Amino acid sequence: MEDRISHALFERAQKRIPGGVNSPVRAFRNVGGEPFFTAKANGARLTIVDGRELIDYVCTWGPAIHGHNDPDIRAALKTALENGTSFGTPGPLEVEMAEAICERVPSVEKVRMCNSGTEATMSCVRLARGFTGREKIIKFAGCYHGHVDALLVKAGSGALTGGYPDSAGITQGAAKDTIVVPYNDRAALEAVFKAQGEQIAGLIVESYPANVGLILPDAGFLQFMRELCTRHGALFIFDEVMTGFRISRGGVQQKEAIHPDLTAMGKVIGGGLPVGAFGGRADIMDMLAPLGPVYQAGTLSGNPLAMAAGLASLKKLDARNAWATLDTLGKTLADGIREAAKDAGIPAQVPQSGSLLSLFFSETPVRNYEDVLASRTDLFSKLFRHALAKGVFFPPSPYESWFLSTAHTPADITRTVETVAEAFKKAL
Ligand code: PLP
Repeated sequence: MEDRISHALFERAQKRIPGGVNSPVRAFRNVGGEPFFTAKANGARLTIVDGRELIDYVCTWGPAIHGHNDPDIRAALKTALENGTSFGTPGPLEVEMAEAICERVPSVEKVRMCNSGTEATMSCVRLARGFTGREKIIKFAGCYHGHVDALLVKAGSGALTGGYPDSAGITQGAAKDTIVVPYNDRAALEAVFKAQGEQIAGLIVESYPANVGLILPDAGFLQFMRELCTRHGALFIFDEVMTGFRISRGGVQQKEAIHPDLTAMGKVIGGGLPVGAFGGRADIMDMLAPLGPVYQAGTLSGNPLAMAAGLASLKKLDARNAWATLDTLGKTLADGIREAAKDAGIPAQVPQSGSLLSLFFSETPVRNYEDVLASRTDLFSKLFRHALAKGVFFPPSPYESWFLSTAHTPADITRTVETVAEAFKKAL
């Protein structure tokens, strides 16, 4: 449904921006066609430059938990703007934000703000290495932690060997200390710890892997990771950039009663402005400069506008006790899609937790990255294009999770389920 105005903008963009986009998934390469350009966004709706409105299930990839252009966040930003956009000295809102995070996430005793989720996970890895004096990091195949050199690595021929880079421009040196293990595989994880336990600085995991679609942990798997880390003196690093403050008030760790050593955060705590944060045990966090030898810094870290928007977003979640509402919306959408798939005889798995969900065209539950690759990703682009033509915008990739916001209404969900059912009935 390319419109002429978006097409013209995309032509211009491609001349001056690599691929015409400032982040690759926006280019629609996984679903075909050209991206549309958004003129404005309000509530659960995007307005395309040609004036058409779409129900949005991307929610700016997570931050827009109250929908777009939320009036309370806008009001907080207006107030903050009166006082200036950046100070270069400490400011009161940074203290308020640190207290707000620590109060919500009990494993976080101290927290440092930064500007993106990538910075947050990168800093966790450095801190884990600085604290333990060890070099190796374990990650899981299919988990995305931002574009950190050491974490853009997937499994080599064996999980016990060092990884190889997943992107050009990453040296073997940066990748060699990353060990990649299949998700939900206790035996593989235990084997790595058994063989190399004394060299492992930390294990990093997406609290719920949600960057290849949503994968939920087998019962007890999170606890198993926690115990292995404790036993071997490695730090357990929880990446809650996507799930933090979204899945529950205190993130997945609150919901699952898991106590990580370090947590990476972002998205919701910026209220739509650039932000990241990492925090955890005070004795580990105190290794950071200026107290300790692990260096980490940022010109715009703790930026007053981002802090104001993030605090307004957190307060509004509390005021509405939003998580129950978000979960009901998520369940209704997931159930509706499951039902529609069943009616049409299409094999579908719809994992959902609160306001995060995704759709796999697969007969069996998806437990790891291999299962994701085995699912029918080709069917997704057909669904995507059908929905877009009908005014519903799903993430432009079969490998991305769908986001809901408090601005989505039951009527939006009904319309979306009808749209999906139509696509399924046409057998895609
Ligand atoms: N970690 C997770 C789990 C993410 O989903 C993302 C981004 O989507 C990141 C880290 C990186 O965050 P950012 O894009 O803000 O650098």
